[in-house]
Amino acid sequence: MADIKLYSSYSGDYNLVLAYPAQESFALSSLGYMWLFMLADMTDGINAKRISTDNTSCDCNKTDALAFSISFDFDYNGVLKILDKLKIPFFKDERNENHPLIFAGGPVITTNPRPYEKFFDFMLIGDGENSFLEVLEVLKLKLPKQELLQKLSEIEGVYIPHNKVVKRTERLENVIYTPIISSNSYFKNTFIIEVSRGCTNRCAFCTASYTNLPYRFNDFNKIIDAIELGLKYTDNIALLGAQLSAHPQFSEIMKYLHNKMQSGQNINLSISSLRTDAINPDIVKTLVLGGQKHTTIAIEAASERLRRFINKNITEDQIINAVKIAKENGLKGLKIYSMIGIPNENDNDIAEFLRLAKLLKEQNKGINIEFSFSSFVPKPQTPFQWEKRETTNTIEKRQHYLEKGLSKIGIEAKFSSAKWDFWQTVLSRADENIASALVEIYKNQGKLGSYKKVIKELGINIEKSIEGCNVNESLPWDIIESRPGKDYLFEEYQRLMKLIKK
Ligand code: SF4
Repeated sequence: MADIKLYSSYSGDYNLVLAYPAQESFALSSLGYMWLFMLADMTDGINAKRISTDNTSCDCNKTDALAFSISFDFDYNGVLKILDKLKIPFFKDERNENHPLIFAGGPVITTNPRPYEKFFDFMLIGDGENSFLEVLEVLKLKLPKQELLQKLSEIEGVYIPHNKVVKRTERLENVIYTPIISSNSYFKNTFIIEVSRGCTNRCAFCTASYTNLPYRFNDFNKIIDAIELGLKYTDNIALLGAQLSAHPQFSEIMKYLHNKMQSGQNINLSISSLRTDAINPDIVKTLVLGGQKHTTIAIEAASERLRRFINKNITEDQIINAVKIAKENGLKGLKIYSMIGIPNENDNDIAEFLRLAKLLKEQNKGINIEFSFSSFVPKPQTPFQWEKRETTNTIEKRQHYLEKGLSKIGIEAKFSSAKWDFWQTVLSRADENIASALVEIYKNQGKLGSYKKVIKELGINIEKSIEGCNVNESLPWDIIESRPGKDYLFEEYQRLMKLIKK
């Protein structure tokens, strides 16, 4: 099936390339990236084009600006790969007026732009849908680079390295949805609709919540209009939001879809996540009717004391109830997301996973329960931004213990790589000094083994990223002004520390 484009393009003589630092299938499934591409493509005076790591067919001599969308810490590798293929110098100081202007935005940039500031001329911090449009208007002026950067610096949310920047936060006025439905997308022929942004729960490690405060949701009628629009072109509808169930009319949205399916409309429905305490029979029945066989809940920790400490305020009864509802209403599988290496975690907290898993397994024959463990990565702009990273050795020991224990119970478990998560921690809390190492690591094909070697050879100090930051010191990402600010994060951190010590 050919791609279906849901808007009309304009053209112009300003050549803007939107680059996705991974394969095209992921680009096509990235709602934020595709929405910004559509905005550019619909802007009079702009000639917009998309590229990705597996499709870099663009003439850099004719390109005025190159914009990257960065969703994951290791995406820098894709950025350098694309620049390399286009023969554009990596460092902005090595580029001149003849090179395209290069900028970036996305969740990683909003959380901490500092590791990347030697690569980009400017970056967008916070919600991008309006700041991007304002940037396009300035770009079209085709001013000399310094003049252009001066003008761009006046736009809220634009970070020109070494300046301060106010994080941009928008009201959700228009529902964002997939503008190009494609069979090449990772989510094949799927129409994704943003229901809400952020999360009210404020788990202390979570950037999806903290960098998207306050929680905002789209108007019910506009969501329904978007669903109807999508259904004109595809049966595959996906609802997106870190905390869908906090939408005040989430039940009505699900009911609307349920009624449509019951009246004979074929809809394959998927949703991004469900909070454990929000699962109810109606929601599960709608998902099952929409063809969903599995769902995921995130409990993070099996011990109640650790869940309280990280501000994941769900009880064991709620977890037990969620699994029961999932099973009784027709789901075949349930994945339980959890985390190892949470600050203050001890062996008893880890053993609690086995106790809980056994209990859930015994009580719920007929549904396949699976655990998926990541390891705690302290992230900027969260109350745990000062915390230390657990050692790889301890995490791996706990992984082996859990793998063995869960397998005895007959439960499958998947684990993220503790070694890669270690380097993710380094990247997350780094400053601009890491840029030269990123280039060297890229030249070593971004292999895991090259990180330690390169960091050592270049003498880059990663101690603070791993051992944690001093609460009295300034942090690399303090250049971002956001609400709530650092004082609030610190108060919350203190409150949680008192809880764990009780
Ligand atoms: S419930 Fe999920 S999305 Fe919300 S703050 Fe916690 S981890 Fe983040």
